[in-house]
Amino acid sequence: MTEKDIIIVGAGTAGLSAAIYAQRAGKSALVLEQEAYGGQIINTLDVENYPGIAHISGFDFATGLYEQATKLGAEVEFAKVTGVEEKDGLKIVHTEGGDYAAKALILATGVRRRKLGLAKEETFAGKGVSYCATCDGAFFRGKDVAVNGGGNTALEDAQYLSRIANKVYLIHRRDAFRADPAEVEKIRGMENVVPVMNATVTDLTGDGKLSGVEVTDKITGEKKVLPVSALFVAIGQAPENEAFADLVELDEAGYIKAGEDCKTSHPGIFAAGDCRTKKVRQLTTAAADGAVAALAAAAYLG
Ligand code: NAP
Repeated sequence: MTEKDIIIVGAGTAGLSAAIYAQRAGKSALVLEQEAYGGQIINTLDVENYPGIAHISGFDFATGLYEQATKLGAEVEFAKVTGVEEKDGLKIVHTEGGDYAAKALILATGVRRRKLGLAKEETFAGKGVSYCATCDGAFFRGKDVAVNGGGNTALEDAQYLSRIANKVYLIHRRDAFRADPAEVEKIRGMENVVPVMNATVTDLTGDGKLSGVEVTDKITGEKKVLPVSALFVAIGQAPENEAFADLVELDEAGYIKAGEDCKTSHPGIFAAGDCRTKKVRQLTTAAADGAVAALAAAAYLG
């Protein structure tokens, strides 16, 4: 069984930052990732709020982190973690591809996009319903599409899609967006972005492929169907930490309970980035957590 000083679960910004700090602290680090390295930021075209870097694409940012971590000697393997147990002073990490052992563990599992919870959502997933505008937007060039949500993700998705699609309905359940004022200002200047305020998505229609989104006005109760080929769901995010629930305490929403020191309820297990209980989930805070968690893990190892 492969044994390392520190195993990091998740190769997003927090996980790769932790790997950089662990290697520089003289500890061997292995990062386990279930999909692609980079985490959520690879879906962002323009990163403009990382201090010291005025503009970079999310993909280039993630690639820079990956190259920096691996050049320092961190290993990255692609495997889905299914559980963790404590045995003989080691953290045994079970994956679909076998077991790994480490003296300390950093959980940097991030979050995933929340689903609408509609009956037909699964039916139309990949057939018009998408959770990633930058991944799937190009399939709907010249078509009418919709984005649901009022946060930064939804507004950035709407901006991106406005350059590809014919028309973008931006459906939000309140009369004001939650996104940063700078993002709201940007969509105001986009003629083909049509805000549909005080509305919730209540049904999906189509024969095999999505052809319409039913929205219900929250004030009048009026229903109407927007004729669109795609719905991009951007209604926030949710953690996925069930695999660790036996060892570390989670809050009621499923986030790993850990403070600014990134220490969890279990000695030798640390949580970094969006997966832990915190108020601000940004690239900067994920990177900062990676550093804090790795230095705490290094101190734990002595
Ligand atoms: P978010 O900020 O939590 O916004 C989620 C949006 O979806 C809110 O407008 C919310 O409405 C709405 N919503 C939630 N549940 C819903 C439901 N069941 N039906 C309909 N609407 C629903 O999520 P996010 O936009 O994904 O952003 C997550 C975090 O990442 C935030 O901290 C954000 O600032 C950050 N982020 C930053 C950047 C950037 O800085 N460039 C880019 C993307 C994301 P209400 O407003 O009514 O609650």
